[in-house]
Amino acid sequence: KLFSDLGLASTLLIQLEKAGYTTPTPIQAQAIPFLLAGHDLLGIAQTGTGKTAAFALPILQKLLAERKMPTPRQTRVLVLSPTRELASQIADSFAQYSRGTGLQIATIYGGAKYGPQFKALNGGLDILVATPGRLIDHIEQKTVDLSAVEFFVLDEADQMLDLGFVKPIRQVASRMRGPRQNLFFSATMPKEIGILASELLVNPKKVEV
Ligand code: AMP
Repeated sequence: KLFSDLGLASTLLIQLEKAGYTTPTPIQAQAIPFLLAGHDLLGIAQTGTGKTAAFALPILQKLLAERKMPTPRQTRVLVLSPTRELASQIADSFAQYSRGTGLQIATIYGGAKYGPQFKALNGGLDILVATPGRLIDHIEQKTVDLSAVEFFVLDEADQMLDLGFVKPIRQVASRMRGPRQNLFFSATMPKEIGILASELLVNPKKVEV
């Protein structure tokens, strides 16, 4: 299978070529068509499988296809990540694949100064990548509004459990309103994570690699 067989738009195919990706990884080949079709997704996959592109590419395609571009900008994509390192990598991937589109991406995580984060949030953004604890801080300070989120990605859910983030995740989820597509990734499926997935996902397609 080729990326062009998965239904991806030419603007994204050009970025993939620039990145040097020739063929989709198994999770990309399986997940991208489901996501473009609008399904919720439960992905059982580890880091290194290409799961970031598996969710970033179809989300970008849908954002760009809608051509709504609400003014002022609203946070339309929320990605939750357990660590600042992973959050930064995910934001870098979105930036790389969306080069030239004008979409704005912000990253917020704990252990960093608030000033630059306030500035990034104030400027308006389309895609927010965050760790759960710091995101709750921003929600409480009303510097983040999640009411317009259309795509919600929970990455490395089992790590979230290990770090004590299940309660903050539920708090974050309660701040989103309206219809949205939900994506849930975990390398393993402990019971608590299965329960969380069943709360957050609606009729998900399951992909295991
Ligand atoms: P991830 O599992 O998302 O952390 O991705 C692991 C690494 O694989 C990253 O460095 C990606 O840039 C790279 N990658 C993702 N998809 C592909 C692909 N289809 N072909 C080659 N490299 C890829």
